[in-house]
Amino acid sequence: MSRKQLVIAIDGPAASGKSTTARLVAQRLGYTYIDTGAMYRAVTLAVLDAGIDPDDSTAVERLADDLAIHLERLEDGALHVYLNSRDVSGEIRSPGVTRHVSAVSSHAGVRRRLVELQKRIGEKGGVVIDGRDIGTVVFPDADVKVFMVADLNARASRRQAEFQTMGDDLPLDGLASELAERDRLDSTRAVSPLARALDAVEIDTSGLSIEEQVEIVIGLAERKSGGGG
Ligand code: C5P
Repeated sequence: MSRKQLVIAIDGPAASGKSTTARLVAQRLGYTYIDTGAMYRAVTLAVLDAGIDPDDSTAVERLADDLAIHLERLEDGALHVYLNSRDVSGEIRSPGVTRHVSAVSSHAGVRRRLVELQKRIGEKGGVVIDGRDIGTVVFPDADVKVFMVADLNARASRRQAEFQTMGDDLPLDGLASELAERDRLDSTRAVSPLARALDAVEIDTSGLSIEEQVEIVIGLAERKSGGGG
């Protein structure tokens, strides 16, 4: 008997370990990984490229309606993000995009468009999807819901280590204040704010290794699919 293809939703603040965990869990289960933050980042890149003010909801929503955004896992195993067929996987991680992504993703029309796309990709199950509103809005009936948290210092240190691997040495306090400000904007916006679903399992990753985080989520998934006994 084939096992049920689950929807696994992982939400939480910036740099709490969601995307690395989601990617590895998807790999272990043979599921598709959907990085919804990458979609909001792609819209933000298009907004900045077009010279549009990120706070101008009418102009941002009009632009978002005309964009073709698409995620694909290539043979190298990495998830690539395409904006109108252009590979923007690197550009969407730039400091400029990071600075403006919360403003762009606060507009209702942008969210409506991307949530529709996310629902379509995940409707058949077999997905691990991470973001801010997955367990609350995108897949409120997800089989597994996780809310990942970590203290600010641990999150800033992780971001710092990621930048170091790319040759950039950034100060910890600057990274910490950028993360704190993004979380503040994301959790106080009017539409679909960052929030823990009431039925989500909270995992504090401050003192956990990546392997431990992955094992916890796999354990929750196995219990749901009946594979854990
Ligand atoms: O996950 P990541 O840090 O790349 O997300 C970038 C930004 O995209 C978040 O800070 C948030 O503003 C927005 N986002 C969102 N809803 C999601 C995923 C991301 O609003 N489901």
